[in-house]
Amino acid sequence: MPDDNINSWEGRADARSFYGFTDLPTIHERGAVIVTHGEGPYIIDVHGNRYLDANSGLWNMVAGFDHPGLTEAAKAQYDRFPGYHAFFGRMSDQTVMLSEKLVEVSPFAEGKVFYTNSGSEANDTMVKMLWFLWAAEGQPQRRKILTRKNAYHGVTAVSASMTGKPYNSVFGLPLDGFLHLTCPHYWREGRDGETEAEFTARLGRELEEVIAREGAETIAGFFAEPVMGAGGVIPPSEGYFQTIAPILKKHGIPLISDEVITGFGRTGETWGCETYDFMPDAIISSKNLTAGFFPMGAVILGPELSDRLQAASEAIEEFPHGFTASGHPVGCAIALKAIDVIMNEGLAENVRALTPKFEAELARLAEHPHIGEWRGKGLMGALEAVADKPTKTPFDGSLSVSERIANACTDQGLICRPLGQSIVLCPPFIMTEAQMDEMFGKLEAALDKVFAEVT
Ligand code: PMP
Repeated sequence: MPDDNINSWEGRADARSFYGFTDLPTIHERGAVIVTHGEGPYIIDVHGNRYLDANSGLWNMVAGFDHPGLTEAAKAQYDRFPGYHAFFGRMSDQTVMLSEKLVEVSPFAEGKVFYTNSGSEANDTMVKMLWFLWAAEGQPQRRKILTRKNAYHGVTAVSASMTGKPYNSVFGLPLDGFLHLTCPHYWREGRDGETEAEFTARLGRELEEVIAREGAETIAGFFAEPVMGAGGVIPPSEGYFQTIAPILKKHGIPLISDEVITGFGRTGETWGCETYDFMPDAIISSKNLTAGFFPMGAVILGPELSDRLQAASEAIEEFPHGFTASGHPVGCAIALKAIDVIMNEGLAENVRALTPKFEAELARLAEHPHIGEWRGKGLMGALEAVADKPTKTPFDGSLSVSERIANACTDQGLICRPLGQSIVLCPPFIMTEAQMDEMFGKLEAALDKVFAEVT
């Protein structure tokens, strides 16, 4: 703790706030960063220190931390109608307009939208929708959910069960019936001598085998992030979605694209499924949906699932599900503005314009003898640290290499995220070239410092 005075902001945070997803020994030693406000892509702490947030908050503050149009949209809607629900056949006008807009900008010709407060709840909602409609259609045994190892779909009991991370075992998760297939990460998972095409084909065979073993008639759906985010920014192997989508279709298993991170421009197209050229049956959206200015998630159903869910609901007269703040009018007004800002104020274009430089810089840093691989798509990228490059051997976990790199970045006024042995960058869409130079310059200095310490 830099200032162990219990009355310091850091001490007060430590005393009364429970940290999630935080390395407690590190934070006891270093103290939390307590943020008062933001300027563009920067956050400013209680001591006046400025940090370039290379993670856009949690991937979501894509328009920066002080976009005037977004705060104006929020204020105007608070003045007009500050809160409502979407139960009992009532909903706000903003909700109606946002649903129209989401279907319009989705890859679907037709569809319907259901709102939640978060990405986790949107995934939970989608699972309940699948369980509900299969049961209504006379297949109540179709309950198993397929995802991938290393996937991140959220933290509620169901979405954490979908998440393919070992840490969930501390909660006794996953629940039964949540199956995790191989992560489509060729560099890590490919076998000696196996080409990328062979690797992808092997994952296709694995999917066929799992479906044959479990029985297609027991499987409710398959969820995938187009690029795995919290798994460490892992783009799929070449041809992955073209391989798995037809297999799922053949067995009548809906493919759900979890676009909580990739949605609204992160990979260069509006949706990750457009970047990777596949057509899902539904899309899960959150984060960029409101540019982080309001907690909100959405399930966007394509035409087939939408019709089937409608029919299932009509049969028992309702779909018994919803959150108090589903379709909150302020959230919807902000989302309408955020979509406009991202798509029409040059943000999506800036992602495309900055991507070549972003990739070139990642590739340059990956020449370092202790960077095994760089990965990325659009403005999401990662560098994976290795103790030995030719054998891809990771550093000893006790060295906490990626955490040390992130701390060395923080000390220079740069926020980036350690994930496993990778450092993840996911800058806001408003980033300038000069800010990108600042980001990579500070990261490079941190890499040099930490690798010199640990080797
Ligand atoms: N899905 C994906 C792909 C995510 O990245 C996240 C959050 N990082 C979630 C779901 C969960 O969203 P939330 O934290 O809003 O519950």
